[in-house]
Amino acid sequence: MPDSILEEIFIKRSQQKKKTSPLNFKERLFVLTQDKISYYDYDSEKGKKKSLRGTVDLQKIKCVESVLPEPNAPQERIYAFQIIYDEGPLYIFAKNNDIRAEWIKKLKEMVLNNKDLMQKYHPCFWMDGMWLCCQQEVKQAMGCKVLDGKNGFSYKPFMRRESRKPLPPTPKEPPQPAVSVGMTVIAEYDYAPLTPQDLQLRKDEEYTILEVADANWWKACDKYGKEGYIPSNYVVEAGNGLERFDWYSKNMKRSQAENLLKNENKDGGFLVRDSSKTGRYTVSVFSKSGGESAGSCKHYNICTTAQGQFYLAEKHNFSSIPDLIIYHQHNAAGMFSRLKYIVSDRAQPPSTAGLGYGVWEIDPRDLTFIKELGNGQFGVVKYGKWQGQHDVAIKMIREGSMSEDDFIEEAKIMMKLRHENLVQLYGVCTKQRPIYIVTEFLSNGCLLTYLKEGLKQHPTNIQLLEMCKDVSEGMAYLESNQYIHRDLAARNCLVDSNGTVKVTDFGLSRYVLDDEYTSSAGSKFPVRWSPPEVLLYCKFSSKSDIWAYGVLMWEIYTLGKLPYERLNNQEIVEQVPRGLHLYRPQLANERVYSIMEICWMDKAEERPTFQELALNVQNLLYELQ
Ligand code: ADP
Ligand code: MG
Repeated sequence: MPDSILEEIFIKRSQQKKKTSPLNFKERLFVLTQDKISYYDYDSEKGKKKSLRGTVDLQKIKCVESVLPEPNAPQERIYAFQIIYDEGPLYIFAKNNDIRAEWIKKLKEMVLNNKDLMQKYHPCFWMDGMWLCCQQEVKQAMGCKVLDGKNGFSYKPFMRRESRKPLPPTPKEPPQPAVSVGMTVIAEYDYAPLTPQDLQLRKDEEYTILEVADANWWKACDKYGKEGYIPSNYVVEAGNGLERFDWYSKNMKRSQAENLLKNENKDGGFLVRDSSKTGRYTVSVFSKSGGESAGSCKHYNICTTAQGQFYLAEKHNFSSIPDLIIYHQHNAAGMFSRLKYIVSDRAQPPSTAGLGYGVWEIDPRDLTFIKELGNGQFGVVKYGKWQGQHDVAIKMIREGSMSEDDFIEEAKIMMKLRHENLVQLYGVCTKQRPIYIVTEFLSNGCLLTYLKEGLKQHPTNIQLLEMCKDVSEGMAYLESNQYIHRDLAARNCLVDSNGTVKVTDFGLSRYVLDDEYTSSAGSKFPVRWSPPEVLLYCKFSSKSDIWAYGVLMWEIYTLGKLPYERLNNQEIVEQVPRGLHLYRPQLANERVYSIMEICWMDKAEERPTFQELALNVQNLLYELQ
């Protein structure tokens, strides 16, 4: 008998070979040896190993990972892990987290060199013919979550470029609905026209699209035949008639729904979203009862009968989804909570790309200055109102500090960049001196100050990671538009009233007239955020932005410390190209730090893309919640 490396009694889930076979859970003695895992019947009274029930050949293993517990799992089934091999997933439950971690670690080491290790896996169970995480109904369906690094076998989240298969493309942000001329849309928000060319939108009313030439402003007509431009991000395609209900969040994904419901933290909070299966809908509900003290989410698919009627957990049939929702607002009827409280992602209207269609020159007489916000590279920044009611920030560009004509040309391009994690450029006033740059106003100000002073309580890991996620998504959008920031740092991010972080000042450094700032030997050059190739050859790219992103993460996790605080710029210029990296901040665990480190790969091409980073940060966040 070969030597056993680990032995443990686990609960094993039956392998549900057929969709309909009921699941069972049995205690088995698991023995790990050099080349396989064997599991045996076990007589718990006598403490004796009995007959062999099965084996898994280590060479055939493709993935070993933990599994998120099933909703309302009993105590003994909390610490689950999965071993994926050619026969599908084997689910095992350990007594505690330490034992689980020990087995996962050991197994990962032992299969590290296996062929066909998976790059993606399912973080939740396969149950009753469906993956609980992504609701795919094919057992072989590719995992919905990317594994960090080589199948998660090291704490490095990414492998070196050469040996890494490219990740599948994910949709570019923000997802542009396939709207075309003639289509009917429904307003999700009110919109008061900002220019005479614009059309007023009334929430929940229908409009017909007449022109989609500009991605941000569509020409539309209302039911009275009035025509004008509307912000494209204020409307959704009128598909199923559900758009007018506040509980319907069409494009929301499962993880986003869980975040939103958990943030609201209201017992019976719910929303309805499109299921991952086209044409179907899912009700996501949050409840504080039932086990987990922090509350938990469940997702119910809305089913249809052969007669086209709708039902949820129990067979109460309704002729429409709104009727079904009304019923379940009053009756739990099989769900773990009644639908008590509508949770909507439409609380605040988003920023528009500019202040009305085609407007990028703003009349300074429409601006009222309210207070000074700070002083920057180009001079004073003020908070004010546009047309007396819209909050704006106004950068007053000190004469001689900017190459203005070049910037004004560029502003037309910048205006078209629109993303919820970028500070929106509204327009410019160029007919007078000093010229003004008018942008979205963010009431919590600069991220660096916010980290140092603005956080009311000690931030949670989730909060810090959320900030990283916000920045990664804004940057992924810039990257997808081949737009390089060149000065990404906490001082160039702002925080809104909800704590959302947005990136600002993208591309602006190209128009600075100040050698101290633009020359890499200058005292204001962002040396501490620069990779070797920028310090040595001034080579900027999306990959130099990635390096800066790593430093920005470090700023977040040190709550605003100065990177390499003991070194002066000259020392940094010498040492970073020789391999000096920032240390791991106390608040950052190994996983978080490994994301920073991968941003600091010497060779620019080995660094990940922002799209990959955003996915990784998102996955990490998913695990924490
Ligand atoms: P610059 O980039 O020109 O050097 P900043 O953008 O850093 O100048 O602006 C100076 C200060 O003004 C910032 O630190 C921040 O506190 C404040 N500020 C700038 N823009 C905004 C804005 N859009 N909303 C709120 N505060 C802002
Ligand atoms: Mg700035």
